[in-house]
Amino acid sequence: MSRIAFVNGRYVPQAKAQVHVEDRGYQFADGVYEVAFVLGGRMVDEPGHLARLSRSLEALAMAMPMTEAALGAVLRETIARNRLVDGIVYVQINRGVAPRAHAFPKGPLRPSIVVTVKLMPVPRDADTWAGVAVVTLPDLRWKRVDVKTVGLLANCMAKQAAAEARAYEAWMVDDQGLVTEGASTNAWIVDGEGRTVTRPLGPDILPGITRDVVLRLARAHGVPVIERAFTVVEAKAAREAFLTSTTSFVRPVISIDGQTIGNGATGSVTRKLLGLYLDHARGAGLAAA
Ligand code: PMP
Repeated sequence: MSRIAFVNGRYVPQAKAQVHVEDRGYQFADGVYEVAFVLGGRMVDEPGHLARLSRSLEALAMAMPMTEAALGAVLRETIARNRLVDGIVYVQINRGVAPRAHAFPKGPLRPSIVVTVKLMPVPRDADTWAGVAVVTLPDLRWKRVDVKTVGLLANCMAKQAAAEARAYEAWMVDDQGLVTEGASTNAWIVDGEGRTVTRPLGPDILPGITRDVVLRLARAHGVPVIERAFTVVEAKAAREAFLTSTTSFVRPVISIDGQTIGNGATGSVTRKLLGLYLDHARGAGLAAA
């Protein structure tokens, strides 16, 4: 079955879907996006993703082209039309079409919206979600990466460097030697005192929806967590390391720059958090959080 995309108000075969050559998303990366996981046909953490999308639009002085409720309905309709069971739904909103000029065009512009879906694998349990390798490299991105824009070239370069090193992810490092985040994931360690550590929110990391859920699940289940930045040196000496994202869930990290973390197997804290997150994603919710 060929995939169906939602493009500016119409559901069209994805192979025939098109955007305008003067769309500012195409020319300036002047657009924002979201990716939500679809599990058993149901979106995971839909309200969180829609709220972050609204926040990204606001940060760029772009109007939400429809209400969050209406957009939620479009996402669900695209999922249904594609008969998607397990995968992701992607939504991108660009400022719109205008003659090329850097400053935002004056007057109202009709934002462009595209929604697509893609099949993705789902971990069954901690035993089938193998640990991965990470490499570290300098964070070359702009200073507002908390806004989820489609300007992802530095992230793509980092991911490419990881792929060339046969690693799953690149952890990016700031001028102080502190890990910011992965090219498309948030970074975590379990420190020498057994505390789960991740960098606090700020302009230098994306406020991951998975990060937020994992923090809340950890606190609700008595797993000690602390939001503070950590160095590459500390990460390499950590008891455990893992990364989080919509498509990686909670993924164990078993080596950093070729150095084995812990005993090279999934650690107990990572295993517990993955289990809690999978239950949450499957619909158990955050009842206790
Ligand atoms: N950081 C970056 C740079 C990302 O692209 C992503 C994926 N959107 C994340 C972190 C993880 O965010 P989330 O848990 O919302 O997928």
